Amino acid sequence: MDVQCDNCNQLYNVNPIDKKHGNGIVETYFTCPLCNHHHLVYVTNQSIRRQQYQIRKLYESIPVYELGTDYKKDYLKKFEAHFKKIKDKKKKLEVQMNKLKEQFASS
Ligand SMILES: [Zn+2]
Repeated sequence: MDVQCDNCNQLYNVNPIDKKHGNGIVETYFTCPLCNHHHLVYVTNQSIRRQQYQIRKLYESIPVYELGTDYKKDYLKKFEAHFKKIKDKKKKLEVQMNKLKEQFASS
């Protein structure tokens, strides 16, 4: 991905690196090749990665409408409920990820 360094404004292409910090904490970051500035992308722990996995699984198990099985109205309800579940999980996860990132950045 192409990013701009907010330290020296240089535009460059990066491959983020995963670094393990113990206790299941993994930091994803990249460094600017010009000024060596450290950019934190995100931090995950075991619980966050488990939730990311659950969300991926939910995306893979979106209900499919089959003719003659459900009434369309019932299917739509099921479909909407499924997406609401994904949305709720993502929202909850986002809060946790922001919190962890803040904790990590200030430690
Ligand atoms: Zn830089």
